[in-house]
Amino acid sequence: MSSAPALSWTGIGVDVHALERGRPLWVAGLHWPDEPRGLVAHSDGDVVAHAACDALLSAAGIGDLGSVFGTSDPAWAGASGRQLLAECARTVRAAGCTVHNVAVQLIGILPTLGPRRDEAQAVLSDACGAPVRVAATTTDGLGLTGRGEGLAAIASALVSVRDLPMRDS
Ligand code: MG
Repeated sequence: MSSAPALSWTGIGVDVHALERGRPLWVAGLHWPDEPRGLVAHSDGDVVAHAACDALLSAAGIGDLGSVFGTSDPAWAGASGRQLLAECARTVRAAGCTVHNVAVQLIGILPTLGPRRDEAQAVLSDACGAPVRVAATTTDGLGLTGRGEGLAAIASALVSVRDLPMRDS
């Protein structure tokens, strides 16, 4: 038996939450005080952070937010996306993975990410302990995101796993 070289794994994550008037909007690790609607969720509903979490857990092969943390666990009520992302990254590293990077695309008609992209990336990268890049798109008026009923996000993550035992050939 010998140690294998590091194996790289990609992971994918998707999240969607409804928008509701009168709630604070937290997305991409930031508060958006000028938005009149926020996301409905057990936690802060930060779809960008949640998609990043699921991508990390997927890459590490250890499940998803629901199975690892429990989507309705009172301990996570009101948890911020930053907190969840930091905890996911810690869990993934504890499983023996090195986190290389995460990319997330926010899908929806708000907020306007561009002016605060650097801020969002800094906050999420700090939580993750690895670079997190954030982009955004709309869906040309189509679907729940196009009608402004909710926000969605899709993420990919790259991790590597070292020290897996490998049988000599
Ligand atoms: Mg979520």
